[in-house]
Amino acid sequence: MRNPKPKEWLAKDYSQCRIADYKPFNFVDGEGVRCSLYLSGCLFACKGCYNKIAQNFAYGVDYTSELEDTIIADLRHSYVQGLTLLGGEPFLNTQVAVPLAKRIRSEYRETKDIWSWTGYTWEELMQESEDKLELLSLIDVVVDGRFELAKKDLTLQFRGSSNQRIIDVQASLRHEKVVLWQNQFN
Ligand code: SF4
Repeated sequence: MRNPKPKEWLAKDYSQCRIADYKPFNFVDGEGVRCSLYLSGCLFACKGCYNKIAQNFAYGVDYTSELEDTIIADLRHSYVQGLTLLGGEPFLNTQVAVPLAKRIRSEYRETKDIWSWTGYTWEELMQESEDKLELLSLIDVVVDGRFELAKKDLTLQFRGSSNQRIIDVQASLRHEKVVLWQNQFN
């Protein structure tokens, strides 16, 4: 597992704007029915990573405006609660994630929510580059931290290891400290 210094890894140096997968209408990547976008590339190299193939920034296919239009259209269904960003590392693909999140905010306001998984901890993100903080400002819920094999726990909701937290992003930004997402059961 790798531990970057603040601003050591920047999306502009690594992202190839590639997508490992897009899964519309699933029930597992957060609360409610969700559309999930898997962004290619991650540098954390966690032992036991759930999606090792997507650590490669070149893996998968190019992100296109057509796919973005499809995501926006899929979100229009009233039974879809929102978008989930996973990876790979969404915060090292801000060239894709920020414009998409902005478009969702512009077209759907607060009627759809945005979740993201990240290998960065909240405290690390607070010291990170402007593009990462901009993405965070557009997100409702973040699941933070590396996957730690020694802390693996299959009983946890939406998390692989017990060091990870489900964080209410907007409340945490307002209070300038981590506020956990209230709907979590454990
Ligand atoms: S942060 Fe997530 S995607 Fe990246 S190596 Fe760790 S488990 Fe895999």
